[in-house]
Amino acid sequence: AKTPAHLPICFFTQEMNVRVRERLQLEQDLHLAVERGELELYFQPIVQSGQCQPVGAEVLLRWQHPQNGIISPATFIPLAEASGLIVTIGDWVLRQACSWLRHWLDLGLTPGPLAINISRLQLQDRLVTVIRDLASEYRIATHMLELEMTENILLDDHVQVSKTLDQLQAMGIKLSLDDFGTGYSSLSYLRRFSFDALKIDRSFIQGLPQDQDGCALIGAIVVMAHRLGLRVVAEGVETVEQRDFLRQQGCDFLQGYLLGRPMTASAYQATLPCFSAA
Ligand code: C2E
Ligand code: CA
Ligand code: CA
Ligand code: CA
Repeated sequence: AKTPAHLPICFFTQEMNVRVRERLQLEQDLHLAVERGELELYFQPIVQSGQCQPVGAEVLLRWQHPQNGIISPATFIPLAEASGLIVTIGDWVLRQACSWLRHWLDLGLTPGPLAINISRLQLQDRLVTVIRDLASEYRIATHMLELEMTENILLDDHVQVSKTLDQLQAMGIKLSLDDFGTGYSSLSYLRRFSFDALKIDRSFIQGLPQDQDGCALIGAIVVMAHRLGLRVVAEGVETVEQRDFLRQQGCDFLQGYLLGRPMTASAYQATLPCFSAA
C-alpha cells in the first residue's frame, strides 16, 4: 500500500461509493415523490415563428426534493428510467396534463396543445389505452395532446414501436421526434416512422447565426422536413438573432428562453387567451 499508485484508486472507489449511495437514496426518494406530491409540471411556451402568442407548451417535470431543493429532470428521469418507475411517473404526468387542460377549458381559456415527453419504456400498447381513458375522463380532444420522443425508442422491437405509434396517430395524437440531429440515425428514423414534427436540438441552435456550417444545416433540415411533410420546431432559442435567422429559414415553431422559460401552471395560465378574445 506504499506505492503512490494505489492512492488515487482508493480515493476513486471511496468517491464512487458515495455516489452510488447518493443515487440509491435518490432513487428511493423518487418512489415516494409522486405520493408526497413533490413532482410538479412546468410549462414552456411554444410560439409560431412569426408571432409572440404561444400556440401551446411543452410539459417539463420538476422535482421539489424536501432536502435537496429543485432537482432537474436531467438527473432524475434517467434514474426513473433505469428503475422502471418512469411508467408510473409518466402516467401521472399525462393525468396532470389532462387535468390542467380541463381546468383551463372550464375557465373559458383556450390552452394550446401540450407536448409531453415520453420515455422508451412507456411506448407499449398500454399507453394507447391510458391516453384514451384519460382523454375521455377529462373530456379532452386528443389533438390537445402531443407526444415527444427521442431516437432511443428504437432500441426496442421496432415492429411493436411502429404499431404503438400508428395507434396513437390514428387517435389524432401528434408525434414529434425530439433532439433531432443528436443521435446516430436520425434520417433513417424519418423514413421508418411517420412523425408529424421534428425538434431541432438546442446544440444546433447555440452557435447561430455566426456558425456557417450550423446555418447551412438548419436550412437543409427545414427544407428536408418540409419535403417530408413535417413541421419544424427549434428548441433552445435564446437570442433575437437566432429567432430572426430561424424565421427567415422557414422554421415553423420556436421554443427557448427568449420566447419564455419553463413556468408554473399559474404563470402559464396567465398567458392564455380567452374564448371571447380569440
Ligand atoms: P428536452 O425534452 O430536450 O427538453 C428541453 C430542455 O431544454 C428542458 O430542460 C428545457 O428547460 C431546456 N430549455 C428550453 N429552452 C432553453 C433555452 O433557451 N436554453 C437552455 N439552455 N435550455 C433550454 P429540462 O426541463 O431540464 O428537461 C431536461 C430533459 O428531461 C428534457 O429534455 C426531457 O428529455 C426530460 N424530461 C423533462 N420532463 C419529462 C417528462 O415529463 N417525462 C420524460 N420522460 N422526460 C422528461
Ligand atoms: Ca422534449
Ligand atoms: Ca429536446
Ligand atoms: Ca434533450
